[in-house]
Amino acid sequence: MKVGALGTHNVLGFAKSKRAVMLLASTSEVYGDPLQHPQREEYWGNVNPVGPRGVYDEAKRFAEAITMAYHRQQGVDTRIARIFNTYGPNMRLNDGRVIPNFICQCIKGNDITAYGQGNQTRSFCYVDDLMEGLYKLTQTRYNLPVNMGNPDEFTILQLAEMIKKLTGSKSRIVFNPLPEDDPKVRMPDITKARKLLDWQPQVKLEDGLKKTIEWFKPRVS
Ligand code: UDP
Repeated sequence: MKVGALGTHNVLGFAKSKRAVMLLASTSEVYGDPLQHPQREEYWGNVNPVGPRGVYDEAKRFAEAITMAYHRQQGVDTRIARIFNTYGPNMRLNDGRVIPNFICQCIKGNDITAYGQGNQTRSFCYVDDLMEGLYKLTQTRYNLPVNMGNPDEFTILQLAEMIKKLTGSKSRIVFNPLPEDDPKVRMPDITKARKLLDWQPQVKLEDGLKKTIEWFKPRVS
């Protein structure tokens, strides 16, 4: 919460003093466990402020609020990207997110840990696509939030099967408890980014995963 809230405040003050453009890397977590699907920027979200994810979700919601306040009140030139699940080479092997977990488990032949029933959904964007979108956003003068992600939606079980196939792994899928407040669905509506930036992701999940697995292979002992 300190990084997300106080850190963003510091960056905004710095941007103001240097007359710099400030790009906030916000998140689909601002939608919480969404009751609207897919998520449009106009949706205000469904966040549990006091649950285990609340520290992140509320920090990022505060970050969006203070960014808009610095824009409106202080004239700082700001952008807000709401980044959905993103992956690719250079992720930490042990960062705990689903794609590094599944790739490492498959390469090592360990069990693949699907949380809950594995029927929750996510929509995964390859990092190069995201970078292109973020750059294009900085080139506009649009200050309200813009969703950035890949709208192709998969269940966690589909993801597990795909990574298993691509790594040629014999790992089996096991079911572990679902973390509290884990969003059941997530998929960006990217109509705004399409119109505003003439942008949409190009890399299919299978192709992005192949590149990511190649990067992981020599690094997983
Ligand atoms: N997940 C899973 N097994 C894991 C890690 C994550 O089934 O080893 C699930 C998690 O419960 C969530 C989804 O994969 O539903 C994405 O989790 P991640 O932490 O990557 O990102 P989130 O979208 O939850 O921020």
